[in-house]
Amino acid sequence: MKRVLITGAAGFLGSHLCDRFIREGYHVIGMDNLLTGSLANIEHLFPLEHFEYYHHDVTKFVHVPGQLDYILHFASPASPIDYLKMPIQTLKVGALGTHNLLGLAKAKGARILVASTSEVYGDPLVHPQTEDYWGNVNPVGPRGVYDEAKRFLEAITMAYHNFHGVETRIVRIFNTYGPRMRVDDGRALPAFFAQAIRGQGLTVFGDGSQTRSFCYVDDLVEGIYRLLLSDHHLPVNIGNPDEISIRAFAEEIIGLVGNPDAHIAYRDLPADDPKVRQPDISKARAILGWEPRVPRPEGLKKTYEYFKEKVK
Ligand code: UDP
Repeated sequence: MKRVLITGAAGFLGSHLCDRFIREGYHVIGMDNLLTGSLANIEHLFPLEHFEYYHHDVTKFVHVPGQLDYILHFASPASPIDYLKMPIQTLKVGALGTHNLLGLAKAKGARILVASTSEVYGDPLVHPQTEDYWGNVNPVGPRGVYDEAKRFLEAITMAYHNFHGVETRIVRIFNTYGPRMRVDDGRALPAFFAQAIRGQGLTVFGDGSQTRSFCYVDDLVEGIYRLLLSDHHLPVNIGNPDEISIRAFAEEIIGLVGNPDAHIAYRDLPADDPKVRQPDISKARAILGWEPRVPRPEGLKKTYEYFKEKVK
């Protein structure tokens, strides 16, 4: 039986990855320090024989007994308000945490996949974003702590690949949504669902003309699974190219929830907010034979079912 370590296991993406690897017949070791994750996301896995949970902060030396075949490094605050509240932890988990896990991968002879992000492109001057675009990032702006931590994560991962011969994979994740997102994580989708359900103003930042491209979590997990098992060590974008303005996105959620009191309430645009974002997924299509399958209306419906239960 193959053994996989997943960091950030109690988070949104980490917990869905745990589910997937359990379903594929792996022994899954989940690790988290619950800074932003929640045990509720993986509670259903605790009774399983082939799931273990370690409460651990990966910025400290990571010890896992026994053989390890794969490591997926998904621990990190990942929403703009989280990394504004926890700037040092965000930098540390991307830098020191990644270093520790690469060291573990080297010691165990394990293949490691690290979670990078579309934020490495910053406020992009190339649209849609291809993997060979170097990005437009402000290192000292409010998002710098996340963007630069993830750029360092990519650099040190490449160094371990080139210098130590560790088998590495880098996924650049674009905006992803689905059940288990934290209601209060401050991102557009959870904020809009909560506000629409409560019949409040949907806080659209700026004039809402900035765009994002939202990928349903099941599609993302499939792309990551394929990338891990591929032989490609350079970064690969995984996301849904279906791009929408934030204002139109808010209107879609108002339409779906159907609360007559919900409306759009404009707020100031935060500093360095990327104006556009859309993945070019030609590489994922060619190398992994992957593309997203879940259209936004379908994904939003499933996600609404989750938020209906969560939002009081
Ligand atoms: N946004 C918004 N209202 C909110 C939260 C976010 O208009 O309550 C905007 C934000 O300024 C950005 C987009 O929605 O332009 C997506 O923001 P999110 O925090 O979801 O993720 P990002 O893609 O910026 O990391």
